[in-house]
Amino acid sequence: LPESRLYQSNDKSPLQIFVRAKKKINDIYGEIEEYVHETTTFINALHAEAEIVDKAERELFESYVYKVAAIREVLQRDHMKVAFFGRTSNGKSSVINAMLREKILPSGIGHTTNCFCQVEGSNGGEAYLMTEGSEEKLNVVNIKQLANALCQEKLCESSLVRIFWPRERCSLLRDDVVFVDSPGVDVSANLDDWIDNHCLNADVFVLVLNAESTMTRAEKQFFHTVSQKLSKPNIFILNNRWDASANEPECQESELAKVKSQHTERCIDFLTKELKVSNEKEAAERVFFVSARETLQARIEEAKGNPPHMGAIAEGFQIRYFEFQDFERKFEECISQSAVKTKFQQHSSRGKSVSGDMKSMLDNIYERITIFRNLKQDQKNLLTERIQGTETQMMQVTREMKMKIHNMVEEVEEKVSKALNE
Ligand code: GDP
Repeated sequence: LPESRLYQSNDKSPLQIFVRAKKKINDIYGEIEEYVHETTTFINALHAEAEIVDKAERELFESYVYKVAAIREVLQRDHMKVAFFGRTSNGKSSVINAMLREKILPSGIGHTTNCFCQVEGSNGGEAYLMTEGSEEKLNVVNIKQLANALCQEKLCESSLVRIFWPRERCSLLRDDVVFVDSPGVDVSANLDDWIDNHCLNADVFVLVLNAESTMTRAEKQFFHTVSQKLSKPNIFILNNRWDASANEPECQESELAKVKSQHTERCIDFLTKELKVSNEKEAAERVFFVSARETLQARIEEAKGNPPHMGAIAEGFQIRYFEFQDFERKFEECISQSAVKTKFQQHSSRGKSVSGDMKSMLDNIYERITIFRNLKQDQKNLLTERIQGTETQMMQVTREMKMKIHNMVEEVEEKVSKALNE
């Protein structure tokens, strides 16, 4: 479907592109599965009746049943994945919390994320976490308990803790966005493992910087490695803690604008000239100046029914708040379009090839059936001809016999009357 037709007036979120595409492809695969089942039953019956299909062919059809079921399972689990990177304490967890509109991930001193934390939607209103390699669901009642659980678990820095949070609590979780928080890029020597284990299927990367300082070598290096392993990753850059700059006592507006344009230029150069992942125009749409902490506070106030500015930390709240919303909008557009391409393009071409293969096999079988039927028809015709021939012969014989008998009777009659006369 063209993207414009995937939008609907009642839900304008760009994430709906993915949501609708996922529904559509799942429905199509549902139909393919039915078709594959029906065909396999038919083929098996055909084999039992007339032996038109051989064993190898039947096995091939059956293999499609498993193939389609496996793809359906993957499809149901497909989601949009965003991963957050940056130095410790730049505010990665805070950005995720602000987007989720709730303090889900522990943040702040003493709560540095020392392993990968993935937040994803759960069904049935349950909140729980699962550690790597275990099927056990650890119940989570509140954020404190979650923070404690994360601290207590002896976790290796590249291991993954999955936090399941009720879908209905956040529209991003409802729409299948999965968030991955990472330990600071400054504390790890295993960046390669990180990328292999957690990044290769990410649709969007968010680099969270501290707007009060410049980008570090570690942060740059990490993204250099990412862009070597992935072709043109989607990277957004958030200059976080922008409220702190506004809070500087001697910071004039013109000074702030200068700092902002310097940071912007560096970020754009990084994306275009260093990583070469986007052009100037695209890169300019990927750099933002925000305050995650303030946005989260504003949203918590909003949830209580208060005006968002009650969460403001410093002057200029409104602009930063808008900028965060702008980031979210562009992020949503980017992630859903990218995920549709990376996740579904492959499945739709597989679906096409499965149905194409089955069609040509069925065409082939149909041809064989036609030949078989014609052969039977020929045999039938031959038989009918023979029967007809026999019938004609029989008639003739009967007629001849009749004549003979008639002649004989006449002869006898003649002889008898002659004898009588004599
Ligand atoms: P992480 O280690 O990158 O996940 O960073 P955290 O999200 O844990 O944040 C570290 C500390 O910085 C916490 O105390 C946050 O409250 C604080 N923080 C995060 N974002 C902001 C922000 O935008 N402004 C201010 N002033 N503080 C922030």
